[in-house]
Amino acid sequence: MKSHYGIYGGQYVAETLLPTLHELEREYEKAKKDPEFRAELEHLFKHYIGRESPLYHARRLSQHCGGAQIYLKREDLNHTGAHKVNNTIGQALLARKMNKKRLIAETGAGMHGVATATVAALFGLECEVFMGAVDIARQAPNVERMEMLGAKVQTVTTGSQTLKDAMNEAIRDWTARSEDTFYVIGTVAGPHPYPAMVRDFQSVIGLESRRQCLEQCGKLPREVIACVGGGSNALGIFVGFLQDAPQVNCVGVEAGGHGLDTGIHAASICGGRVGVLHGCKTYLLQDNDGQIRQTHSVSAGLDYPGVGPEHSHLADEKLARYVAVNDPEAVEAFHLLARLEGIIPALESAHALAHAIAVAPSYSPEDILLVNLSGRGDKDMENIRRYHEKTQQKNPQ
Ligand SMILES: *Cc1c(COP(=O)(O)O)cnc(C)c1O
Repeated sequence: MKSHYGIYGGQYVAETLLPTLHELEREYEKAKKDPEFRAELEHLFKHYIGRESPLYHARRLSQHCGGAQIYLKREDLNHTGAHKVNNTIGQALLARKMNKKRLIAETGAGMHGVATATVAALFGLECEVFMGAVDIARQAPNVERMEMLGAKVQTVTTGSQTLKDAMNEAIRDWTARSEDTFYVIGTVAGPHPYPAMVRDFQSVIGLESRRQCLEQCGKLPREVIACVGGGSNALGIFVGFLQDAPQVNCVGVEAGGHGLDTGIHAASICGGRVGVLHGCKTYLLQDNDGQIRQTHSVSAGLDYPGVGPEHSHLADEKLARYVAVNDPEAVEAFHLLARLEGIIPALESAHALAHAIAVAPSYSPEDILLVNLSGRGDKDMENIRRYHEKTQQKNPQ
């Protein structure tokens, strides 16, 4: 199993945590080859999450843009409303196999916390979710959802009191209690084997959509577009198409916030430098002393100062392309999809959509752009309202 992607990845953790990571890697290697584990995962994908998710031709949006046909991979239709549950189900199955009684997780916007609390309830496991005090205040509905599902939400008051601090606390807790605890990481970051394991659980998105695209359109897309926070939904869909380069371009869309030149953004690849965070070497947003910088995005799920190490490698090798979309374009795409297709997307996914909308006119009507619609936008109604209040920009409704 690959522990490095070029110079990126690795296991930059306290020595005391290494045996735990080695055990996890061994158990995951075994599970991956175990037909029973795979059958159970497939069963839950189908009957619990509701896979496979549809590939939907957004005709009115395509017509509006002029040019390419835009197709949406509907991960927003999964149980819990996003792609994250593909991964938490896999890790919870592994936790049960390893006889761990307690799941812990970090969360920023709360979506990964909800997806972890959900599978903890499903498997009858204890669950504690670490969340920064600032995020708890601005994501109250997800805190309520986690508690409804039986999870305990631990308030993190260190540092900037957001996602990176929550992840630090989770790693600290795990180091102290690894005998009975399984740490469920929510994206393709963290120390090996997490980036590889999370990629595997999310690869179902890419494998399904490549087959669906060939069945429905008889050809492959020109671009496969996904938003990049830590990078799990993007890597999940890219996996299906990386072998099709150069006919197919994989494009990762980072959160440009107020613009790359303002420094107020969360675009780790487009605007960051190489460093080490949360156990892996990767592109990070940091100052000259190597301190992690404050990040900003209108979408809480993209508001992470790092990115999965495999993306750093794909970027360096030009095997995938990374661009940034700013807050206003993402918000505009959010409204456009709601009005033209009757689908309210997550603000994260709206970043990917905004890139597709921008480039569609440069393609011909025979060309296909495949956008990963990573989640639904019910969770973002309050964020959108606040955004329009702040910018004094009229909500088109
Ligand atoms: C968490 C989240 C993301 C960002 O995480 P990735 O690991 O980059 O996929 C994107 N979209 C939605 C809907 C999310 O909940």
